[in-house]
Amino acid sequence: MTVAWIGLGAMGAPMAGRLATEHDTLVWNRTASVAAAHEREHESRAVDDLADVGEADVLFSCLPTTAEVADVVDRLVASLAPDTVWVDCTSGDPAPSRTVAATLADGGIDYLDAPVSGGTDGAASGTLTIMVGGDQNVLEQVHPLLELLGDRIVHVGPTGAGHATKAINNMLLAANLWTAVEGLAALVRQGVPGATALEVINGSSGQSFATERIIAERVVTREFPVTFTLGLLAKDAGVAQSVLDDSEIPAPALRALGELIRATRNELGPDVDHSAVAQLVERWADVEIS
Ligand code: NDP
Repeated sequence: MTVAWIGLGAMGAPMAGRLATEHDTLVWNRTASVAAAHEREHESRAVDDLADVGEADVLFSCLPTTAEVADVVDRLVASLAPDTVWVDCTSGDPAPSRTVAATLADGGIDYLDAPVSGGTDGAASGTLTIMVGGDQNVLEQVHPLLELLGDRIVHVGPTGAGHATKAINNMLLAANLWTAVEGLAALVRQGVPGATALEVINGSSGQSFATERIIAERVVTREFPVTFTLGLLAKDAGVAQSVLDDSEIPAPALRALGELIRATRNELGPDVDHSAVAQLVERWADVEIS
């Protein structure tokens, strides 16, 4: 089987590298030098011309948003054989992804939305959670490939359901992160060192991925390594607002949080790590959580 990967960013590069350990893997990246470096490191096969990925049986994309996915689909669809499967690992937008799926379906190509959670560490170790929307029979066809990428592969519903699930998940991440840093800033003001407060919270009912991993490893250490940008989290907040609108339910807390995350992106810029939201709260509170 030949597979192809489109988009060798922080997530795409290690994920494509894992496929290349077992399959002939074509890689294309907008900046071609990145694909050439991937070929050297992972024994994948870099292609300069996007149309050349058309020889693959299964195509993966991992791009910033559905807009970039729609663009590459439009450029490629005429050169894809019927029965190709397109697996989109972008954290994308459900409604425009259904349009992408319809465009591909016209050419006989199946589309699955398959966004992932687990960060760059999970991408490198093949321990991602993969949430899949689309036809379950198509998922069965590509399941062995997904098993190289993740250890929890869940069919969540029809096309777009994977993207919707991912957007809501990331709002919960943002909620836990934001409220934890506010609470920790207050505790520092009360004379409780940030690391001490975290030790307690991580053994108590307030614990979350944000407190256990993000704040402990990125904020308290003052490292703020850039692996998942605030720009991408703000993009996910926008997707989540669309999901809420489409669902027609009142969700005042999630809507307010979405506004907050996007305002924070405007304040700090899109290229900082998402953990940098702590720096804004620290600035407001005039404390350091460490
Ligand atoms: P990066 O910014 O690291 O990589 C983005 C990739 O998309 C690069 O390969 C870039 O190419 C390519 N690209 C950007 N714009 C275009 C375009 N117009 N046309 C073609 N290619 C383009 O992003 P990540 O890898 O961090 O994220 C990718 C997706 O995965 C996002 O949807 C994100 O939300 C999601 N995600 C990210 C996680 C993380 O921890 N980083 C975790 C889980 C999901 P070039 O090299 O030329 O810039």
